[in-house]
Amino acid sequence: MTGTDTKAPAFRILGTTGDVTNCEHCHRRGLRKTVILLPLDEDGAADGDPIHYGTGCAATALRTTSYKIRTAARAADIQATIARRTEQRDRAAWALPRLEDFRANLARRMAAGDDADTVATAHANRLGSAVWRYAPELREQAEAEAREAYAVGGLDAVLALYDRHIATAGRLSRLDPVIY
Ligand SMILES: [Zn+2]
Repeated sequence: MTGTDTKAPAFRILGTTGDVTNCEHCHRRGLRKTVILLPLDEDGAADGDPIHYGTGCAATALRTTSYKIRTAARAADIQATIARRTEQRDRAAWALPRLEDFRANLARRMAAGDDADTVATAHANRLGSAVWRYAPELREQAEAEAREAYAVGGLDAVLALYDRHIATAGRLSRLDPVIY
């Protein structure tokens, strides 16, 4: 027997979730939230998939108090939120100049009198690809909106749709990830 046998099993607290409401340790159900624990090997690297424990079982597993678990989980949740918002901001900052370029291209082609149907089809795709950069789940919706806008209001309506997306991406790109 070595001294390491008395060490608490190593986990990193990743945060909390309301998506899993049963403790994988004691199998208690109907918890409001569970703590997400990442098992670590002795070098501190991830060792398997995250597990979900109630606060009490997490405290026992980490040989600490429920209070400390809650405090650490809250801090991890805040870090995760900041990381998510930072990524969203960076994606929006990447998309913004593309949206502006595409809008300028549309304005040029309108001024040049290019075939409106051709221009509208190309720009539904372009808008979708730019929106995909900051909101992947909205790509198809953005393309559908561009086609709808063209059907209803012609290329002027597509231009207005660019303005709306430019405003959204602009707002997201200026977000302070730490303030929420
Ligand atoms: Zn439990």
